[in-house]
Amino acid sequence: ILELSGIGDPEVLLKAGIDVQLSLPGVGTNVQEHLYTGVTYRKYSRLSPSILDPTKRHMSLVLALNNPFSRGSIHIRSNDFRMQPVIDPRIFEQPYDLITMVELVKFARRIAHTEPLAGLLSGTEVYPGPQVETDEQIAEWLKDTISTTYHTVGSCSMLPLEDDGVVDAKLKVYGTTNIRVVDIGIIPLHVGGHTQGTLGALRSILRSRMSCIPCWMQLWHIV
Ligand SMILES: Cc1cc2nc3c(=O)[nH]c(=O)nc-3n(C[C@H](O)[C@H](O)[C@H](O)COP(=O)(O)OP(=O)(O)OC[C@H]3O[C@@H](n4cnc5c(N)ncnc54)[C@H](O)[C@@H]3O)c2cc1C
Repeated sequence: ILELSGIGDPEVLLKAGIDVQLSLPGVGTNVQEHLYTGVTYRKYSRLSPSILDPTKRHMSLVLALNNPFSRGSIHIRSNDFRMQPVIDPRIFEQPYDLITMVELVKFARRIAHTEPLAGLLSGTEVYPGPQVETDEQIAEWLKDTISTTYHTVGSCSMLPLEDDGVVDAKLKVYGTTNIRVVDIGIIPLHVGGHTQGTLGALRSILRSRMSCIPCWMQLWHIV
């Protein structure tokens, strides 16, 4: 919405045929996502129902990287609001992210082979499976299969202007008097949990800051 309104990186705006109203190069940058995968094992069928659901024959150890170093971008491609934006997550662009995920997979395997979990699993890993063994093989498997948790943040980061920030500490877009962003796009460094909680906190902050403003005016400010 900011870019379609002429607020953003002039290069992006001009390419999309939008007149620049306000140069703010941070718009659409600093995009971060929680990365997610899992290692799945076959269970012993003789387990007591009180320990694990006997109707389910597999169990996954789920792994997530909540603070990746890679940064992606989201930008408009056209001045037609019906066109989908270009989303470039640049997952694993920073080697740290891939190395950490490889270590997580190995750690999950160690847990699966350690009591008490080892006694519940048959020892047969069905995903990714024993053919994915070396660090290089795990890395290639991750590059092919890595998933997200749909927790995209950062595209309108609350940061100092000189660090490519988009909103200030009062959620107001730099260089404007009455435009605020109140969604998880303002998170500058990813949270280590579910995003809805942070979103709820954001809304509470906005409500408390605007309690002196009549309701109909608050709506205008949020827009
Ligand atoms: C499948 C899935 C599962 C998830 N599960 C969880 C979970 O279990 N726990 C959790 O905490 N989070 C979960 N999330 C993440 C959570 O839903 C998001 O983090 C949260 O909704 C983000 O809120 P938001 O207000 O920032 O953005 P959104 O909820 O995406 O709201 C943005 C709004 O802007 C509107 N919009 C977009 N473009 C325009 C435009 N040009 N003009 C006008 N309006 C526009 C959209 O229609 C949308 O209503 C999940 C997400 C997905 C997709």
